[in-house]
Amino acid sequence: MSFKSKSPVLKKTKREYMNISQNIASFKATIPNTVTLVAVSKTKPVLNIKEAYDAGQRIFGENKIQEMSEKWEQLPKDIKWHMIGHVQTNKVKQMISYVNLIHSADRIKLFKEIDKQAKNIDRKVDVLLQVKIAREESKYGMPIHEAISFLEKNQFESYSNINVKGLMGMASFTDDPTQIEAEFELLEGLFVRFRESKNLSILSMGMSGDYELAIENGSTMIRVGSAIFGARNY
Ligand SMILES: *Cc1c(COP(=O)(O)O)cnc(C)c1O
Repeated sequence: MSFKSKSPVLKKTKREYMNISQNIASFKATIPNTVTLVAVSKTKPVLNIKEAYDAGQRIFGENKIQEMSEKWEQLPKDIKWHMIGHVQTNKVKQMISYVNLIHSADRIKLFKEIDKQAKNIDRKVDVLLQVKIAREESKYGMPIHEAISFLEKNQFESYSNINVKGLMGMASFTDDPTQIEAEFELLEGLFVRFRESKNLSILSMGMSGDYELAIENGSTMIRVGSAIFGARNY
């Protein structure tokens, strides 16, 4: 594998599935304290989320608005709910009052809708601009050249009820670390380029299979599901 010889930021451990609270503790102990852990609880029952909550985890990620809203209703209100999945514009309203961060703002139409719904309830909502870095056709995200012009032209400034806090990306589904790293580097480059001028603080990249590589390439927020909660049954 072609890891870059940057300073070692991680205590490399062979991660074995233990139980949820041990997994949370193990992540907290091994990731740098500059990196935020989003526990991705999609498809998992409220009981599992409660276990992670009791272990001190407060940020949870979901990819379906309906499911997130049902869990939000049932669980403690100091949980920060992150929407990480593709968002249909007609569902924005359902989560606008409580969502803490939308990682998947990937098109103008969605920015407009989030801004409109946020205005209606007089709130400012934090979002990340999701950029398409994977080579696969299926992955969502704004194409990179559009993202550059969106940032350069300050297009997001017209949405007065949205705070663009950073960038989000998903690498290709592949075992080839060289390709994954190239995709992470692409997003890191974009983040570094606009970080200061656009006041960006969050770079959301890395999941169970590639979070170490993501952290080595500048990620400040990792989205981890199966390595905490176990494999998902769909
Ligand atoms: C499901 C999901 C994750 C977590 O995936 P794991 O491989 O289970 O860690 C992260 N990000 C997004 C956008 C997801 O949909």
